[in-house]
Order: sequence, then C-alpha cells, then structure tokens
Amino acid sequence: MIAEPRVIEARQHGISPSDVNPGALKIVHTIQAAGFSAELVGGCVRDLLLGQRPKDFDVVTEAEPDTIQNLFRRARLIGRRFRLAHVRMGREVVEVSTYRALPNVGDDGYEVSEGDGRILRDNVFGDRDSDARRRDFSVNALYYDPVGGVLLDYVGGFEDLNAGILRMIGEPARRFREDPVRLLRAVRFSSRLGLIIDTGTEAPMPDARLFLQKVPPPRLFDESLKLLQNGYAEPNFRLMHRYGFITELLPEITQHYLAADVVSETGLVMLALRSTDDRVRMGKPLNAAFLYAVFFWRAVCDQASRLTEEGGAPVQSLHRAISVVLTDAQSRLTIPRRLTAVMFDIWDMQRHLEKRRKNMVTRLLEHRRFRAAYDFYLLRVASGSADQAIADWWTDIQKVSVSSRLQMINDLAGGRGSRRRRKRRRRSVK
Ligand code: ATP
Ligand code: MG
Repeated sequence: MIAEPRVIEARQHGISPSDVNPGALKIVHTIQAAGFSAELVGGCVRDLLLGQRPKDFDVVTEAEPDTIQNLFRRARLIGRRFRLAHVRMGREVVEVSTYRALPNVGDDGYEVSEGDGRILRDNVFGDRDSDARRRDFSVNALYYDPVGGVLLDYVGGFEDLNAGILRMIGEPARRFREDPVRLLRAVRFSSRLGLIIDTGTEAPMPDARLFLQKVPPPRLFDESLKLLQNGYAEPNFRLMHRYGFITELLPEITQHYLAADVVSETGLVMLALRSTDDRVRMGKPLNAAFLYAVFFWRAVCDQASRLTEEGGAPVQSLHRAISVVLTDAQSRLTIPRRLTAVMFDIWDMQRHLEKRRKNMVTRLLEHRRFRAAYDFYLLRVASGSADQAIADWWTDIQKVSVSSRLQMINDLAGGRGSRRRRKRRRRSVK
C-alpha cells in the first residue's frame, strides 16, 4: 500500500522556484513535461527550509535512467550499484535519480543484505513513498515540486525540522546497523544544522559504534573528512567522543592523549579543531593532513620513545614509529598518500624546529611544508608541550630582513652545524 504524503504549500514557508538552481529547475520541468513526476529532494529542500543556501540540488523522478538519457542530450549514466544520471546544464551537473525501493522488500529475489544486517545492494526501483522511507533522517526526506509549488512529506520531516529534531526514519538500531555511516551523518547534521538528535535515535548510537569497523576504510576516511572540514570540527569531535566513535575511528587519540587533554580547551586536539573551524570561517584553505598530524602525534611520539629506549637511534626511531602508526591507522581509515606525505614532513620537521641548527634554518624556511610545521609547533606551544621562546624565534626570523636573518642564524649557539657546512662547501669547490 502506498502512503499518501502530507502536502504543504511551499510559498507559505518562504520557498519559491527562484530559490532553486536554474539547471535543476529546468530538469524538473522537462521531466514533468514528458509526463513523469519529478521533484527536488534531500539536503537542498532541508537547507532551503532552514534559510540556508544548499550546496547542490538533487532531483528524483519516477522516470528510469534510460528515459532520462533520452530526455537530456547531456546525461551520463553512472553508478554500478544503483544507476543514476548526471545531467549537465551549462556549468552545473545535477544528479537525477529514480525513486528507489526499500531494501529487503524486493519480491524479485534480490538478496540485499549481509548476514550482519548491512546493506550491500539496493538497486531496485520503487515509488516516492519507498524512496522517502529508505532515506536516513526525516529532515532529509522532504520533496519539493517547484511546478506544483508544494512540499511532500511522508515521514514527518517538516514537523521535525520546525521542532529542531534530527530523527532517524524507521527503527534506529536497525538503520544504523544497515549503514553505520549514518552514525557519523547524525553527528554531522546535528552540529551543522543545530538539530537535537531525537532520544529514540540517539539511544542505540553508543552501542552501534562497533558497526563502524565494518565500513570500508576509504568511505570512513571520506566521512571523517566531512566531519573535520565542514566548519564544525569541534562540535563534531565532541559528539563523536561522547558516543565513543573516536575510540573506533581514531583509537590513537584516546589511547595516547591523556583523557583530560582530549576534550580540554587547551589540549592539542581541541586547539587544532578550533583553529580548523576558524580557518573555514575565514575562507582560508585547509589541509586535512594538519589535523591528522595532530591526532596521531602522541602515538608517534610514544612509539618513537619506546623504540629509542630499546636502543634505536632517535631519527630512525621516529621514522619507524611513523611507519608503524600509519600502517595501523590505514586498516581503519584510508588516508591518501598525498596526506601522509605531508604528515611525515610536519612530524619530521618538529625536531629541526626545536634544535635550530645553523645549517638547517634556511633550508627549513624554504621547505614547502614549513608553514604547516611551524603552525603545528605553535599549537604545541599553546598546549604547553613545546618552547615558547623557540616559537618566538621562528616567528621573528620570518619577518626580518635578509641581513638580520643571517645575523639571527649566526647568533645561534653551537658550531657543529657551521663546521659541517664549511666542509661541504669546500668539497663542492672544484
Ligand atoms: P549535504 O548538505 O551534506 O550534502 P545531504 O542531505 O544532501 O547533505 P548527501 O550525502 O548529499 O546529504 O545525500 C543526499 C540525500 O541522500 C540525503 O539527504 C538523504 O536523503 C540520502 N542519503 C544519503 N546518504 C544516506 C545514507 N547513508 N542512508 C540513507 N539515506 C542517505
Ligand atoms: Mg548533498
């Protein structure tokens, strides 16, 4: 039986077709003119109702992908599991998908879930009602038909949004088990949209954290990146910590930082999260490597000290520790090489920043990761684990003239470095 939606006049809630991207609007018109239903759905409708600017506009329709391809010259079918179309309109690319059926209800013999309840395949077309019910949260399951000027609500999302509640559709424990990434999405939407997680939805979250281990590491990394880079890294982290997700995703943090340090305002982790959020607010570029470098720093240091205690040379011990910690982390989150390379540089440069060897200063200042390593050092100072005077010296040397820079380098104590440099110079004169 197909349930009837609640129909809400969109204009009465401040939503009109002019709020929609012209490309997406045109697509809806074209599909409807061909005789099929089509609406905007999901995050864009939710954001419009909240008075925020949507990131992108997704279209859903009863028309199947082949029909979409026939209607739009510039449509490309994508996806292996569930085929959907990307339709190019000028510079925009709009995702157009066909209503999906609920998983597990296919009467055509599709086996859609693993023994552990995770969904592996859900590629059956359905109607709008089933499409709404297979979405995650009620506020993410609102449809807007800009032609008819109405919002369609099958799951009480409109009321929840007005009440500021994030509610899982269906039975929360089962939905989290089906797709544990929903745990992280709950955190992300709650922080970013200022929604309170409904008590029924929240109740199974701490226990469901164990399912996070089943999520493929590349997807887990992508989701963690969204949580760290959407401008709400600090509230996201606090919530994830409260539900025990940090222990699952980043045990390096809970095992190696002191419990008090993890959530303390002046701890390295919080300082880094806050400075990341500040950068987003100021529109400055982010490098995710920086945050991950903070997360794994204590683990790297602890591992390195263990190896030196066992008789390893300090530099080799550090490098070996980095490799051990990263290899272990990769089994949970696939951190791309371009990031681990930066993390390595940030960590490796800490000892050079600390030592200030005469022959290293210029080379460090010119290093492409100097800025990141220096910022990292500043955070360590702010958290009380590095030397303020050394940080000030590095701050000053970046500001002064070339001659004062040379003077500052010359004034550094210790001749070992300069002797070495002279030797090397002599050798190169031929
Ligand atoms: P954002 O603004 O962060 O993009 P969004 O709501 O648009 O938020 P998307 O990840 O773009 O989120 O997904 C689009 C829609 O698809 C969601 O609004 C939701 O209805 C549905 N959806 C996405 N991921 C899931 C999931 N894991 N389980 C169920 N439904 C999902
Ligand atoms: Mg989206």
